[in-house]
Amino acid sequence: VIADVPPRPPIAWDPIPFDARRVADTRAYARRHYGRASARLRPRVIVEHLTANTSYRATFNTFAPNVPDPELHERPGTCTHFVIDPAGRIHQLVPLRLVCRHTVGLNDVAIGVEHVGTSEAAVWGNARMRFASLRLTRWLQARYDIATADVIGHRESVGHRLHHERVARLRTQTHGDWPAAWMRRVRAAL
Ligand SMILES: [Zn+2]
Repeated sequence: VIADVPPRPPIAWDPIPFDARRVADTRAYARRHYGRASARLRPRVIVEHLTANTSYRATFNTFAPNVPDPELHERPGTCTHFVIDPAGRIHQLVPLRLVCRHTVGLNDVAIGVEHVGTSEAAVWGNARMRFASLRLTRWLQARYDIATADVIGHRESVGHRLHHERVARLRTQTHGDWPAAWMRRVRAAL
């Protein structure tokens, strides 16, 4: 039997600064929120996101600085492992060995994939973005043995079985991007 391993899609390596200070901030974040002081990612979930803007460069610039985020006011700065731009190009901003802050309750186990756009319909209706997203997700699934049920939208984070958060006020915190109605379509396409 020959395993059906999808090919690695083209990925542009475009790293945000992730210096020793940012790694230390990530380790401290993991201790506060997960009770385990480690910046090492254990990939078991893929979380799909929407940037709510129209520019890859603006997205990169949002994630590049290691500053407290405007919503929860803590370091490290928020980030994502991958960004898919409107031309369907895949950019990788952070190595997959590192925890990245993109989904409260799942950052220690989740790979983050951002899609540049202002709505799920705009992303899904763009064939280049849709194909790139599906190719990247399938390849990550094969590489890390991640089931399609564990490819979730940000909006689905709180209900996931691996969701955990030590800070009580954040236990139900999530965002509205890629709700279940959209993710059913995405998972069916995977
Ligand atoms: Zn999101």
